[in-house]
Amino acid sequence: MMTTTDAMRVWVGCLACYSEGRLVGEWVDAVDADTFIPCERPDHEEWWCLDHEGLPIDGECSPMYAAALARLLSEVVEWQRGAVIAWIKEGNYSTDVEGLPVLSDFDEAYCGEYDSPRDYAQTYAEECGLVPEEYVWPTSCIDWEQATRELMMDHYTTPAPGGGVYVFRTF
Ligand SMILES: [Zn+2]
Repeated sequence: MMTTTDAMRVWVGCLACYSEGRLVGEWVDAVDADTFIPCERPDHEEWWCLDHEGLPIDGECSPMYAAALARLLSEVVEWQRGAVIAWIKEGNYSTDVEGLPVLSDFDEAYCGEYDSPRDYAQTYAEECGLVPEEYVWPTSCIDWEQATRELMMDHYTTPAPGGGVYVFRTF
């Protein structure tokens, strides 16, 4: 089975060759980016990731950073990896000394995967005990559109692969 980590690949190239107008490098698994040596010339010693696939960043980066980010993502339990990648793409996080996203921010922000913002609002209301399990009051009268709108004022969502949404709290 193809997992999200298998799909994280980077093209590591030699910067000196690049500045001479030659593309010398290879696609490698992102987790191996910091140990890969793309060029054998002794006077060439600076490598750079000029392209990547599956990493939640824009543009180029250092092989060290690509590998560290790939390792960080590979440590995330698989069923949450899609949500973590979506969260990194949104960019609402603090970073550590290496510039990597602090995953405890994710744990605080992530509310779960739902069919829609309204599905989240209804589930949340049930969990809070706002909606009784037995019929005591006509919950069909609740204006869920309005309730969802207000609840989502301090939340945001990103599309999830299954057609639903990942819901995050803003702080
Ligand atoms: Zn070179």
